Amino acid sequence: MNVVVLVKQVPEIALIKVDEAANEVVLPQGPGTVNPLDEYAVEEGLRIKEKTSGKCMVMSVGTERTESALRACLALGVDDAYLLCDEQFGGSDPQAVGHILAAGLRKLGDYNLVLAGKQAIDTDSAQVPAAVAAHLNLPQAMFVKKFETVDDATATVLRSTEDGHDVVELKLPAVVSVVKEINEPRLPSLKGKMAAKKKAITTWSATDLGLDGSGIGAASGTRTIKVTPPAPRPKGEIIEGETPEEIADKLFDKLREKQIL
Ligand SMILES: Cc1cc2nc3c(=O)[nH]c(=O)nc-3n(C[C@H](O)[C@H](O)[C@H](O)COP(=O)(O)OP(=O)(O)OC[C@H]3O[C@@H](n4cnc5c(N)ncnc54)[C@H](O)[C@@H]3O)c2cc1C
Repeated sequence: MNVVVLVKQVPEIALIKVDEAANEVVLPQGPGTVNPLDEYAVEEGLRIKEKTSGKCMVMSVGTERTESALRACLALGVDDAYLLCDEQFGGSDPQAVGHILAAGLRKLGDYNLVLAGKQAIDTDSAQVPAAVAAHLNLPQAMFVKKFETVDDATATVLRSTEDGHDVVELKLPAVVSVVKEINEPRLPSLKGKMAAKKKAITTWSATDLGLDGSGIGAASGTRTIKVTPPAPRPKGEIIEGETPEEIADKLFDKLREKQIL
């Protein structure tokens, strides 16, 4: 069966800054990395491909710089990479990104399953996979921690919930987002890295995808009203004492003072 994994390139989180005056999140200019949760989706895609034959592909909405993230996936054994890239895509909100990815999947055509990470670690909306499913009118299961069974036409998955999990049966094609518990991602081999450097990446523009700019980029349905950095954490206090009992007593008094106990 053919699996397409949706992969987002994210910046180094520690280097992100907020420019309150400009009302902007300032992203670092480095090459960035594959969204960590997407590595689990790629691993699952590769495992399914290895069990069932077929292809594991990756697709991303990004810029030319996103190629490095796609090559990192090719180095792991992914067969083909698709980059959806166009100036018109800049400023897209998560629903618009879902719309663009849906157009990419429509153009690709031959797939049984779409996998994605649970959420992106930079903008964190956890909306894109469900948006893709909605745009393509496909069944979906979000936050999946296990594939119990999967074949060309159906899958049974365990979907994480606060109290345990739901068992969900899906008709394929479907869209599934995964959580970390699902597997342990592999590392690339040197041979894989060398081969990935030479592989062609297919790039599709808005015109290639038949998108005319409506509902994407600057025409997204949402706009950012205000951007602020997170409040700095208050400094911690170390409670000193001669014995563990004394320290525990002082801690107890402090919790009482703050009416926590
Ligand atoms: C008004 C507005 C304007 C914005 N403007 C910009 C901008 O100019 N530039 C910019 O970089 N961001 C911009 N963003 C942020 C951008 O919309 C999000 O980064 C993007 O839509 C994905 O949302 P998310 O990161 O929260 O992904 P989530 O929904 O948290 O991601 C879940 C999963 O979906 C998949 N996925 C997410 N994004 C992609 C992708 N791009 N390609 C393939 N798979 C993906 C991955 O598998 C990921 O693990 C803007 C957001 C808003 C609301």
